Amino acid sequence: MTTQSSSLNSYLSEYVAKINDKSCRHCDDCRKVCVREAIRENLSINYNECSGCGNCVLVCPVMAVSLIKRADIK
Ligand code: SF4
Ligand code: SF4
Repeated sequence: MTTQSSSLNSYLSEYVAKINDKSCRHCDDCRKVCVREAIRENLSINYNECSGCGNCVLVCPVMAVSLIKRADIK
C-alpha cells in the first residue's frame, strides 16, 4: 500500500470513495458530480485526486459508493 505522505497531498481528507463493483449499475452519475474528476471512465478511483467530499456517495441511486479510510486502501 502506498500512503499519501507527500506534503503535496496534505490537503486530502483521510477518507476516499470506494465503489462496490457488484452493486454498481454503471450510470456514471458519480463521475458527473465529482468536481475533482477523481473517478475514471472505468469507475476506478484516482486516490491522488479524491478529496473524500462524499458527493458521489450522495448521488449514487443504488448506494454503491461509500467512503473508506485512506489508510485502508488496498
Ligand atoms: S468523494 Fe468527492 S472527490 Fe472523491 S470520488 Fe467522490 S465526488 Fe470525487
Ligand atoms: S453512481 Fe453508483 S451506480 Fe452509478 S456509476 Fe457511480 S457507483 Fe455505479
